[in-house]
Amino acid sequence: MSGRDPYYDILFEKIQIGPVTARNRFYQVPHCNGMGYLRPNTLAAMRGIKAEGGWAVVCTEEVEIHANSDNGSAVEGRLWDDEDIPALAKMAEAVHEHGALAGIELVHGGYSSANHYSRIPPIAPSLTSVNSYDPVQARAMTKSDIRDFRRWHRKAALRSKQAGFDLVYVYAGHNLTLLMHFLSRRFNQRTDEYGGSIENRIRLFREVLEETIEAVGDNCAIAVRFAVDELLGPKGITCKSEGREVVEILAEIPDLWDVNISEWENDSATSRFQKEGYQEPYISFVKSLTSKPVVGVGRYTSPDTMVSLIHNGVMDMIGAARPSIADPFLPKKIEEGRLDEIRECIGCNICVAGDWLSVPMRCTQNPTMGEEWRRGWHPERIEPSKSEKGILVVGGGPAGLECALSLGKRGYRVILAEASEVLGGRVYRESMLPGLAEWRRVSEYRENLLEKIDMVKLYRASKLSTEDIIEFSAKDKFEYSHVFLATGARWRRDGIGRQHRKPIPGLEKITLMTPDELMDGVGASGRVVIFDDDHYYMGGVLAEKLVLEGHKVLLVTPAPDISNWTHHTMEQGLIQSKLLKLGVEIATQQNLVSVNSKQIELACVFTDRRTLHECETLVLVTERLPNDEIYHALQERQKELTESGLKTLKCIGDCFAPGIIAASVHSGHLAAREFEKDFPDDVPFLRERVVV
Ligand code: ADP
Ligand code: SF4
Repeated sequence: MSGRDPYYDILFEKIQIGPVTARNRFYQVPHCNGMGYLRPNTLAAMRGIKAEGGWAVVCTEEVEIHANSDNGSAVEGRLWDDEDIPALAKMAEAVHEHGALAGIELVHGGYSSANHYSRIPPIAPSLTSVNSYDPVQARAMTKSDIRDFRRWHRKAALRSKQAGFDLVYVYAGHNLTLLMHFLSRRFNQRTDEYGGSIENRIRLFREVLEETIEAVGDNCAIAVRFAVDELLGPKGITCKSEGREVVEILAEIPDLWDVNISEWENDSATSRFQKEGYQEPYISFVKSLTSKPVVGVGRYTSPDTMVSLIHNGVMDMIGAARPSIADPFLPKKIEEGRLDEIRECIGCNICVAGDWLSVPMRCTQNPTMGEEWRRGWHPERIEPSKSEKGILVVGGGPAGLECALSLGKRGYRVILAEASEVLGGRVYRESMLPGLAEWRRVSEYRENLLEKIDMVKLYRASKLSTEDIIEFSAKDKFEYSHVFLATGARWRRDGIGRQHRKPIPGLEKITLMTPDELMDGVGASGRVVIFDDDHYYMGGVLAEKLVLEGHKVLLVTPAPDISNWTHHTMEQGLIQSKLLKLGVEIATQQNLVSVNSKQIELACVFTDRRTLHECETLVLVTERLPNDEIYHALQERQKELTESGLKTLKCIGDCFAPGIIAASVHSGHLAAREFEKDFPDDVPFLRERVVV
């Protein structure tokens, strides 16, 4: 069965990569995931599903080649000795099971690995502090260290082959790899044949590449991952200078070029800062210098863009990390002409946060991500309904939409009632804030699919009251007697949050606004102070909105820097520098302690030293309160409800517990999966256990 438009045929051409053949042009580039060496079953299931979804090549994350380079608390891949082979073999098998090629990205982190676990002093081309704020220095490599590194890499390549991988990487991408450190004038101050000229700085890269080819190149394709530009101008590697020279020098040696930009936050830029295709200007020169297949990334989700990238000679294979996380079945959907079913990545980097937090990544768009093995969730399949039961979902934000969609897919009769004319809840409103337009995809994707399911009825502009819900569930009327309340949450107006367990004094004396009011279009006046005790994006993004509207803005946070949690989404530096450039005043490590007419008082979180600041409008970004009034009202009428017919009543999403959008989507999905199912009282999912 193929309903594919022939226009997309080009994406399904086979590609020869050295000794192996990829079945099409869809290439899941290496990406971290927080599963790694600690959770091999979780990892294998996640990668296997991508192979099932049509990706021709499915790669690992970075895989440490030796204890000399240990990523410490980050859970990456590990191939230190033969004992590590079976875990990785499991992933290769899962990928092969669905006809894809398995790739492995071997890494030595050089001065980027502080080696907290192995306690081995890290190594680098020249003496340098490690790139984190750890009190660790990497020592300058001797010739014997260089020989060791080459041997370790060769052994890891042989082990990769033994584990069943078809494609082995020599990795000099990002600023996280020893090979990149050797290439870089910033880190390589050697005076021997490995330092100085570009020919010398590339020597180790070339040696390792040739040795990998010699070791496993008979059966395995050898890929190079290389960052052609560090976005540092003349201080770093640029695609006009040494980035280009490296490709010129090594052009025909590897079997494949996987090219990107460095560092990781530039490579995996969020939609707040970069749009689809943002890497193209940097990498597009590569194909003119090599006859080998070229892979690039740029958060590509549009099949038309993919086709034009091939036609325009920008790349041969469409690389994707995040688009493959948001929709593991993206290639299959294009292949089968189901373009409107593609669940497009929104570029929020919640997946990346999983890696930084060393837990299996989650995804805002794909609630099954990370649940493939432990809960047995499949992104495209869901258990059919067990009955004809009717379900009422109240609220059409991410939780309600996902819940209704998944219940509809299961085959239940569903009514989704949304108070507003527009579906999407917080996603709709937040997508109008500066830079967040792509977030709208969360509701658009679901709304579009819901429209096609006959069993689901959508009622917009339908604010339900307690009475309405009782009426819907009544056994002698409509019999939508199972109710999910997805009525969301609202920002608090009293300042309660991490810093204040009681209301902030004096709030009645000032013009006060919440993020909800600003998003609803209520205008602020005069100089605005934003007190951000939430620490994710909202405080920063409102500062941006208000300064762009012409206000003077002071952004106050008790944290050491603004939007502190966005370190995990790799946006913090970008947010702070953007706001500073826009003229937002920033006060860090300050608490808002009292409020007076046109004035607020801040206190240093360490010394309690007080300062007064002019303020006409105060915006509080602290905590949210669940909109669970209906739930409590219904609870009070339990007896009457049971008599009328209401059988189950549950809060989901923000109405249950305010959180990030990904948590709401997950909550809605979980509720739909669990409906009419019994669950164990203990841990509701499988765990990977250390075998003792
Ligand atoms: P979540 O992230 O949990 O989905 P949101 O705040 O994004 O939460 O969405 C909640 C949605 O519920 C909003 O679109 C809101 O308009 C809607 N809603 C709230 N109360 C009612 C109600 N009584 N009847 C119908 N819809 C409601
Ligand atoms: Fe894309 Fe966000 Fe999902 Fe990551 S978490 S894949 S950025 S939608």
